[in-house]
Amino acid sequence: MAESTIVSDTAKLQKYLSLPQRGKVIAEYVWIDSSNGVRSKCKTLDKPVTSLKELPEWNFDGSSTGQAPGDNSDVFLRPVAYFPDPFRLGDNILVLAECWMSDGKPNQYNSRHDANKLMSKHAAHKFWFGLEQEYTFLDSTSWPYGWPKNGFPAPQGPYYCGNGTGKVVCRDIVEAHYRACLFAGINISGTNAEVMPAQWEYQVGPCEGIDLGDQLWMSRFLLHRVAEEFGAKVSFSPKPIPGDWNGAGLHTNVSTKEMRADGGMKHIEKAMEALSKRHKEHMKVYGEGNEARMTGGHETAAFDKFSWGIADRGSSVRVNRACAEEGKGYFEDRRPASNADPYQITGMIVETLCGKVEG
Ligand code: ADP
Ligand code: MN
Ligand code: MN
Ligand code: MN
Ligand code: MN
Repeated sequence: MAESTIVSDTAKLQKYLSLPQRGKVIAEYVWIDSSNGVRSKCKTLDKPVTSLKELPEWNFDGSSTGQAPGDNSDVFLRPVAYFPDPFRLGDNILVLAECWMSDGKPNQYNSRHDANKLMSKHAAHKFWFGLEQEYTFLDSTSWPYGWPKNGFPAPQGPYYCGNGTGKVVCRDIVEAHYRACLFAGINISGTNAEVMPAQWEYQVGPCEGIDLGDQLWMSRFLLHRVAEEFGAKVSFSPKPIPGDWNGAGLHTNVSTKEMRADGGMKHIEKAMEALSKRHKEHMKVYGEGNEARMTGGHETAAFDKFSWGIADRGSSVRVNRACAEEGKGYFEDRRPASNADPYQITGMIVETLCGKVEG
């Protein structure tokens, strides 16, 4: 899209935003499209919402999002979670919805449905997930934000967890997104500047079961929306710039009730055995273009071989030193790429450790 010449005027907008809504509530329905993007549209409700079941089903034109053919284009939105809206405030809400077809089957891009079946079936293990979402800010020309035009910044080194001009950019967006997540009730656990300039990370978790996917998707929506206000683009590309620049991942920290209890290390070791046998299947859902990121360099492992180790950032899965010493805790699957679908990642992990669900 060409750069807009229309300048939005936040002072003027404020006059309208402070108008009373006369009891009505705005619900922004958010869903995941055919390419791991987020879409949304809003609906007026007659009163504040106090439970999920009060939220009506809705629909959209799936032929406009690549989610359905033109001759059968209705896709239905079924609310699965809702959050306070940090943009509209008041009683207004953000609604996360699953996509369904008119024949009563989930839309082909509805990965939450299968993940949720796995999470429910194996709920007794109390799976916790904490995901580290890395991403890159781009300018209007789609070049990393703050990089010299037609050129490159000085080599990596000073940027990771950096402070000061020339080391980080877009901290205002990061800070705004952090607050927006907290306001919305997202369990965001931290944030840091990354190794490649213009790249950042935030973590969501620990969250139990399907909740992780719900919260991470909503946090991505919030990031796109906040960055839109500041005029930056957000890229989830696993290797935004080829060469000696770090890629972006979605490290997935995992534990079960058994792993967190005394003697949990033997459950972690059993999990490593199970993961090693399904490496290829995991890589299929761990993000598109991940081969370019997982070179064996830049703190990644080889793309086609499973490995694990204590404190080893060059292995597919890392068990941190504290965990190894205490003999219990969690493991970090470092393979998923930044653009992967958290429902697919967490669903695949539960399936591998606990078994498939029929039907
Ligand atoms: P790293 O050292 O790899 O950069 P981070 O501090 O960025 O790790 O992220 C660690 C993530 O692990 C956080 O999201 C945190 O919530 C999550 N986490 C902590 N304990 C557990 C646990 N027992 N099970 C699952 N996830 C956990
Ligand atoms: Mn219309
Ligand atoms: Mn991290
Ligand atoms: Mn990181
Ligand atoms: Mn990590």
